[in-house]
Amino acid sequence: MAKSSEEIIIIGAGAAGLIAARELSGLYKITILEARNTTGGRINTIYRDGIKEAETGAEFVHGELPITLGLLQEAGLRYQQVSGQMFRVNNRQWVAQHEMIPNWDELLEQMEKSPADMTMQDFLDQHYPYEQHPDLRKNIQGFVQGFDLADIAKVSVKYLYNEWTNEDEKNFRIDKGYTAMTDFLAGECRKQQCNIITNTTVTAVEWSAGKVQVQTAGGASFSADKLIVTIPLGALQKNTISFSPAIPDYIKAANDIGWGTIIKTILHFKTPFWEKHTKQMAFLLGETPIPTWWTQSPSRVNILTGWLGGPPSVAYITLSNEQLLELSISSLATLCNETVETLKEQLVSSHIANWSADPHFAGGYSYGTPASVTAQALLNAGIENTLYFAGEALYDGTSPGTVEAALSTGIAVAAKIRGRQ
Ligand SMILES: Cc1cc2nc3c(=O)[nH]c(=O)nc-3n(C[C@H](O)[C@H](O)[C@H](O)COP(=O)(O)OP(=O)(O)OC[C@H]3O[C@@H](n4cnc5c(N)ncnc54)[C@H](O)[C@@H]3O)c2cc1C
Repeated sequence: MAKSSEEIIIIGAGAAGLIAARELSGLYKITILEARNTTGGRINTIYRDGIKEAETGAEFVHGELPITLGLLQEAGLRYQQVSGQMFRVNNRQWVAQHEMIPNWDELLEQMEKSPADMTMQDFLDQHYPYEQHPDLRKNIQGFVQGFDLADIAKVSVKYLYNEWTNEDEKNFRIDKGYTAMTDFLAGECRKQQCNIITNTTVTAVEWSAGKVQVQTAGGASFSADKLIVTIPLGALQKNTISFSPAIPDYIKAANDIGWGTIIKTILHFKTPFWEKHTKQMAFLLGETPIPTWWTQSPSRVNILTGWLGGPPSVAYITLSNEQLLELSISSLATLCNETVETLKEQLVSSHIANWSADPHFAGGYSYGTPASVTAQALLNAGIENTLYFAGEALYDGTSPGTVEAALSTGIAVAAKIRGRQ
């Protein structure tokens, strides 16, 4: 295909925006406008002296995911499989846990039989009433909140079934960090003369068929023939960009998809004090305000990552990073039978990632509701071959809420624009 004279603006330099730009920049004149001072979006590795110190956003490749692993191979980036065991703290004892949820297979069978889609809450009320199944319900709620960041009263049974039955046991981490992958993509885009402009927040879009005019917070204006919006769903739901003429059906569709909140804390200690309990820990679950923790196993670095997701995290979003650090340390002290003072003395450095407090993200990642499939179809269709949407939340495959999901939608929107779909 010969290079077209058409110009395309992409809002957002996360995984979806960057891969769409790479697919299109040999064929069209592409400009990416990105609010932050860097590319990658919810992929955000922190480096110290050029060495990966923390992943404040995406960390795992959840399974043998073709687009992500293909990109890593293309970029020559190595990755390692996560190893180790999961433990749960019960009455101050660390107990190895082999199944996240007991009677898992029976639960999946019931979910498969469920004829119409409904929320997980309605499904549990029908099949697992609280009086008879209090523990199972607590476990499912904890898992849905922690893994999917989802509200049990909103998340779809069919969505969870689709995700849970396609789960790959293997998880990987990228040696040089996820940002090495988005840096590779950004480099590829620039080689094809794609213009990536950071520190530029889009506030308004005026459009008509075949024409868009984009305004930024700094007062600049950009025009193009087409626009791809890849901002996080939470920002779209909150109308952080105004559209003229307005697109109420599409904003309603965005609000029909679930959006979860997350706080992630990464703590670097002098010694691996948790190894007093076991040297096998990969994940640790408990009942503390920050309930989920993990090591970097098999890497033997003295880092623990805390994770507080879904509705229970909402109450903590307005806390300062100092308060969230206190909360992390006190949670960990309880789980590890240590004093807060000991852990403070052990602490070398910390990174607190409160994505939900950042207006450009307003949360962590999406989850499916019974209304999501219709909403995604509308948003994925685009508007008058002029406005398009992409990003993790518009993915309807088996690895939702992931980098793979974002990459997949970026490739799909580029194919649509090239007229292949
Ligand atoms: C804490 C956390 C942990 C995660 N862990 C994993 C994991 O282990 N594995 C995994 O696969 N996935 C994980 N994810 C999900 C994964 O990070 C995302 O699905 C993926 O990175 C989303 O890419 P995206 O391009 O759709 O959106 P984003 O990466 O969010 O990109 C959108 C971009 O739009 C920009 N933007 C927003 N508003 C504006 C505006 N008005 N003007 C200009 N630019 C704007 C943002 O700054 C951002 O850069 C995690 C996410 C979080 C938050």
